[in-house]
This record gives sequence, structure tokens and C-alpha cells, in this order.
Amino acid sequence: MTTRIGVIAIQGDVEEHVIALEKTLAERDAQGEVIKIKHRGIVGSCDALVIPGGESTTIGRLMQRENILAEIKTAVEECELPILGTCAGMVLLAKEGDEEVAKTGQPLLGLMDVKVKRNAFGRQRESFEALLPMSIFEAPFPAVFIRAPALTRASEDVDVLATFDTLIVAAKHRDMIALSFHPELTEDRRIHHYFLETFL
Ligand code: GLN
Repeated sequence: MTTRIGVIAIQGDVEEHVIALEKTLAERDAQGEVIKIKHRGIVGSCDALVIPGGESTTIGRLMQRENILAEIKTAVEECELPILGTCAGMVLLAKEGDEEVAKTGQPLLGLMDVKVKRNAFGRQRESFEALLPMSIFEAPFPAVFIRAPALTRASEDVDVLATFDTLIVAAKHRDMIALSFHPELTEDRRIHHYFLETFL
């Protein structure tokens, strides 16, 4: 059976995720295809989904217009569709946003019971890299943060996988993983392997 992994391809780091996923599938000797999703009608045929980094306002609005938001919600509620949300993807997975989210009125999927703060590390630290200890790996992960969001609240059934500066930067809830940073921008594919291994 071929695994089908969808990458939301409206805006942002789409290509980088597609390449990382293709390499990960090859390294696992797994049959699979990675497809880009721009339109409605495809999410339901996917075994897993990636929502990449980019501008969460733009991605959210266009996903709403194309009805993809509703399709994702249905797929999670009805068949526990696994989702990896990175950076803007983390924002979109959250149930609750900060003032910035309220101000823009951007739509959220609201699938993870967490509160997200956009651009959580402020102007001085718009973009940085850190060797991040994560509960799921022995060696720290080289995490690239770019105008990164972070979680300021997580419900009890959310597993916190990593924190940085007292903020939650990686979390797992049901079959969903939300990351503040960009694993697709490094050659370290442990997170993509973990995602496929854990949920597929
Ligand atoms: N700050 C962006 C947002 O909230 C996310 C940045 C990113 O994905 N690199 O949409």
C-alpha cells in the first residue's frame, strides 16, 4: 500500500517539506508519495498532512476560502488524520490565539488545545538557531526559528516535547505535532522520521 502525504501548498516552505518527506520515505524504504495541496477535495485521500511555515494569516484565509480548513477538521475528527504543523502551521493548529491573532481575525483550525503567541521571541530575535533538547531524541535538535510562534498554554493531555525561554516550542496532541521551528530547513530529518514512524 502506498502512503500518501499531503503538504498544504498555498504559501511558505512547501518545497523544502516535500523534499524532506521524499528523502525520509526513501530512507525508510517506504512506498509513498508526497503531494501538494492547493485545492479542496484532496485532504480526505491523504494518510498524513504537513502544514508548513509561512504567513499564517495568508495560509489560513486561503485555506478557508478553498474549504480546506473544514476538510482538515473533518479528517481529524473522523479518522485522526496525522498532522505536522511547523511555525505558521503551529499557529493554525491552535485552539486559542493571542492579541495578534485576534487583531487579524485569522481563522484557526483549533484542533490542538493550546494557546499560541505569534512572533513570540520579539524583534531582537526574529531569526535564530538553537540546539534544542527534545524529550523524544537523545541528542539536541538544530532548530531554526524564523519569526517563530510559541505556545503559552497547553492542556493536560498535550505532551510538551521541548521548551525554550520558558515557552513551549514543540508539542504533541493526539496525532498532531506542532513546532515553532523549521525542521525542513536542516538536513536533520529526525522529526520527519518520528512523524512517519509514530503515526503511519
Ligand atoms: N510569524 C509567522 C506567522 O505567524 C510564522 C513565521 C514562519 O512560519 N516562519 O504566520
